[in-house]
Amino acid sequence: MDNFQGQGFDLSPELLDQIQGNIEEIIKSFPISESNKKDVLKKINFMYSQTRYMSVTDALTGIFNRRHFETTLDREFLRAKRYSSDLSLAVFDIDYFKKINDTYGHLCGDYVLKEIAYIALETFRKTDIIFRYGGEEFVVILTETPIDKAIIPLERFRKAIESYPFFYDNKGFKVTVSIGVETLNPEIYVSSDLFSNADKALYKAKQDGRNRIITSLNL
Ligand code: GH3
Ligand code: MG
Ligand code: MG
Repeated sequence: MDNFQGQGFDLSPELLDQIQGNIEEIIKSFPISESNKKDVLKKINFMYSQTRYMSVTDALTGIFNRRHFETTLDREFLRAKRYSSDLSLAVFDIDYFKKINDTYGHLCGDYVLKEIAYIALETFRKTDIIFRYGGEEFVVILTETPIDKAIIPLERFRKAIESYPFFYDNKGFKVTVSIGVETLNPEIYVSSDLFSNADKALYKAKQDGRNRIITSLNL
């Protein structure tokens, strides 16, 4: 796994909430007119929402970032455990991505990342949550979804990428992804197991020849 660290922005949404609350309190005590206070608060709220958005978003692709993945996974994991609902998690990684960068350039690699994020947003259900985990690795949390139901959109996504006419700088080319998937079961006690089992399945998908889905049942 690449250890991609976001885009140099490192404030958690919780800390931002706290900062915003503090600033609002300070402004309220300023010796200025109420309408001026309102103006200042409006500007602060605007800056705050921009900043909060940035803190959960990956700047290149516009989808959720790794930090947001960690908090979302914990929340969905607890929810699924508490209500005994289904929860699946898929990790996918672009095949031979280094070769795309080396052959067509880094900007073309960036174009591929953006297209793939877009195709993922189009392919999965609105209740599924998509994150850029690292360089060319993504995670999908499929809520209320058992493994057999998860395979259907994942296979649709794999095929969509395989057949997508990538085109950059007057050159057309093909891209594939490998996918590992795990689903919540009684042997999973902590949320990170869900991720690491899916990651192991992804590793096997690579070993078995790439452009395929491996479930943790096949390990
Ligand atoms: P595999 O099929 O085994 O996954 O091979 P791979 O070439 O995809 O894997 P590898 O880990 O060797 O290469 C990942 C590449 O992803 C290397 C790195 O330069 C590139 N990469 C990571 N982040 C970015 C990015 O933000 N933009 C671009 N263009 N490339 C990136
Ligand atoms: Mg990788
Ligand atoms: Mg790769």
